[in-house]
Amino acid sequence: MDITDFSRTSLILPVVAVALVDRDGRVLLQQRPPGGSLAGLWEFPGGKLEAGETPEAALIRELREELGIDVTAACLSPATFASAPLGERHLLLLLYACRKWAGQPQPLQATALRWVRPVEMHALPMPPADRPLIGLIEALL
Ligand code: C5P
Repeated sequence: MDITDFSRTSLILPVVAVALVDRDGRVLLQQRPPGGSLAGLWEFPGGKLEAGETPEAALIRELREELGIDVTAACLSPATFASAPLGERHLLLLLYACRKWAGQPQPLQATALRWVRPVEMHALPMPPADRPLIGLIEALL
């Protein structure tokens, strides 16, 4: 049974996201669009795993769909994880770090993109699963 089989029956919803880090040590956040869940909040780009996907394959797909950039699995370093309640379920967010990609990130699904210093994240409204990861990102960079 892979992680996505497990996620259909489990109370845990696995989600992958990435801290894209530029040469100045800034991290890319995207703003969730109005009208949907967690509207207006600033999150690490990423999303749900689809059936049969590994976490890395899901992230490669999500970054193409959301930002129009290409990353390779070799460039994705698992960084940390956090969890938060999501309705009846529990969201488990796996965060990767990535310093190398091809293309220029564009807000294909988000309202806006923003490159921020880790310390600036404290002042931004972020989803409950993303917020606990700020401290680790600060320590990592
Ligand atoms: O983007 P998508 O709708 O696939 O995300 C699935 C769920 O994961 C949503 O509930 C979203 O709020 C959550 N999420 C999150 N933090 C992220 C990315 C997604 O809490 N960085």
